[in-house]
Amino acid sequence: MYPKIVIDLNKLTENAKIISQKCHEHNVTMMAVSKSYCADPKVTAAFVAGGVDYIADSRLDNLALAKGINLPKVLLRLPSLSEVDKVVELTDISLNSELTTIAALDLAAKKLGKAHQIILMIDLGDLREGIWPSDFDSTVRQILTHQHIKLVGVGVNLTCYGGIIPKHDNLSQLAALAERLKSNYQLDIQIVSGGNSSSYYLLDKGQMPATINNLRMGESLVLGYETAYGKPIAGTHQDAFQLQAEIIEKKSKPSMPIGEIGRDAFGNIPSFEDKGQMVRAILSIGRQDVKVENLLPIDANIHILGASSDHLIVDITDVANRYQLGDIVTFNLEYGALLSLMTSPYVKREYK
Ligand SMILES: *Cc1c(COP(=O)(O)O)cnc(C)c1O
Repeated sequence: MYPKIVIDLNKLTENAKIISQKCHEHNVTMMAVSKSYCADPKVTAAFVAGGVDYIADSRLDNLALAKGINLPKVLLRLPSLSEVDKVVELTDISLNSELTTIAALDLAAKKLGKAHQIILMIDLGDLREGIWPSDFDSTVRQILTHQHIKLVGVGVNLTCYGGIIPKHDNLSQLAALAERLKSNYQLDIQIVSGGNSSSYYLLDKGQMPATINNLRMGESLVLGYETAYGKPIAGTHQDAFQLQAEIIEKKSKPSMPIGEIGRDAFGNIPSFEDKGQMVRAILSIGRQDVKVENLLPIDANIHILGASSDHLIVDITDVANRYQLGDIVTFNLEYGALLSLMTSPYVKREYK
């Protein structure tokens, strides 16, 4: 049955081994981030076998899937006020930046008779989540008034909204705030979380400030890339997830549509380059299942022309005699494609 995503669990374990070993060599613990693969339990188990230290996700539904795993669960997205009870129930640690939410978590924790741990997020310029550094002391003082909340760390997220690259400079600001918690508040914090897969390269370069002792790794685990500069991580696999889709039409057609051009299925006015007659194949997958721009055909002679909700059109002119109706075309994936494919209920999964 196609389309299908083929998942090589051994390759994923190897990715996790290489990355967690590198982290551990630098006294950095590692959170495995499961959102890109919708927390598929088999994939998470493969990462656990590779030696990760925490399971982390933005979504509570995903963390619920990891319930049976004996590692701390971390909620990455700031908790919604409407879900604080579930946060306390399902997770050990959450990332936070709002005092109102932290107060609500405190009440929820009291109700459930359970302490809840938080990491205070600091915005160092990427402009997604986090308190502004100048609000640090007032925020910490407020947090410390809550009896059922334990401030266990500080963290930063970069290269997500603003595209800001983690450097020794900006991460040193985080390190300095962590030091301040120790010296000014006598807090023995366990976690100084220096970012996501885009911070990994600093380990290789020996530029990670020594105080940083945790990273939250998603894309690097699943696809084997550090994401500051988009380089493959030595020894890891970039093809642990592959898409296979089936050819449902193969015909020679012109490259230019015929007639007046209006809007395509998504309301955009398309434009075309005249490449003459070409051999085109249609695959039974579309934008409802996958972010087409993030598909990388393994056969470099296949070129993606476009897609509607349920059809993907490829140019196979250069390899026309190699592909017939019913044949399977295989793709490697970039992050957006992995995310969409794992989210689509129409895409089957095969494990090997
Ligand atoms: C998604 C996410 C991560 C993981 O990011 P990658 O770039 O996939 O490594 C880490 N931290 C937070 C807060 C996230 O939302």
